[in-house]
Amino acid sequence: MEKKNIRNTPPEELTEFLCSHGEKAFRAKQIYQWIWQKGVHSFDEMSNLSKGVREQLAAAFYFDNLRAGRIQTATDGTTKTAWELHDGQFVESVLIPGKDKYTVCVSSQVGCQLGCRFCATGTLGFKRNLSAGEIFDQVVFAQKAAEERGSTLSNIVFMGMGEPLLNYTNVLTAIKHITDENGLAMSPYRITVSTAGIPEKIRQLADDEVRFNLAVSLHAAKPDTRSRLMPVNQAYPLDQLAESLKYFVEKTGTRPTFEYLLLNGINDSTEDARTLATYCKQFPVKINIIEYNNVEGSAFKHTPDKQRDAFIHFLESRNMIVNVRRSKGKDIDAACGQLANKLKKGE
Ligand code: SF4
Repeated sequence: MEKKNIRNTPPEELTEFLCSHGEKAFRAKQIYQWIWQKGVHSFDEMSNLSKGVREQLAAAFYFDNLRAGRIQTATDGTTKTAWELHDGQFVESVLIPGKDKYTVCVSSQVGCQLGCRFCATGTLGFKRNLSAGEIFDQVVFAQKAAEERGSTLSNIVFMGMGEPLLNYTNVLTAIKHITDENGLAMSPYRITVSTAGIPEKIRQLADDEVRFNLAVSLHAAKPDTRSRLMPVNQAYPLDQLAESLKYFVEKTGTRPTFEYLLLNGINDSTEDARTLATYCKQFPVKINIIEYNNVEGSAFKHTPDKQRDAFIHFLESRNMIVNVRRSKGKDIDAACGQLANKLKKGE
């Protein structure tokens, strides 16, 4: 019999397995607590199960655990880990120190099919979705790493490799286990899912009444510029995106965030700021300005500070809420996809 992924196995199926092996149904709850509350990675760690039950489980199920590959730590404490998956693929997550707590940036897919021009992951192509367990593990390991540094993990952002809303079920299942009181019990308000802008999925989030934060990678409010940077804009133009966001705001009552990566000479003029401000008038929104890390061989360049400040000043003069995300991990391959790309090439 082919082994099944224990973390993809519904509780009813696990209960049935246990009962058919002469065990009590409540064992299923214990096993789920070990997996989703304590974050264990083997049946041997489930110390309140008999050796016999553990062996029966190990004969029928497996864990799709992550294995830490190359780890890079920047001088500012930002740590990027490339994770090797059970099928030999790589994804990565980044642990980012804040004032007194940590944020982890997690991946949701191996590679990505959306091909944003400024993104190293986009050059990998799409390989597969991550399972809920593989997403969950990135958070468990980040929690441990933060604790080892005498701190805690306070925020989770889905801004690593992949488009989370194209792996909708697994991402939402992982979030359920991260926020469930029988799971890691973290607040949904400390989770942000970032999308390139898939209107039908944004509507689905609204219908599912999610309580986590939604961020949209906008990067340009001019259609031509956005299509040039993000081919997804051709399939889902800005007006469709705006309609879905209006629906999201109406149904959830929460204000999404626009991520805006400033790229010198491409989307950082006052005219670009004006177009952005007009687009943002359609619904309540916050804007996160992200500074671009210059990457060797890239056609894109970091916006000079003076230009950045003028851009922000214009938006603020239009009463927009603007935050600036300073670059972290400048001395490592901190942009999404860079480390996995290197490992794939064997560098
Ligand atoms: Fe995919 Fe996000 Fe990279 Fe775009 S920025 S290619 S959506 S991983």
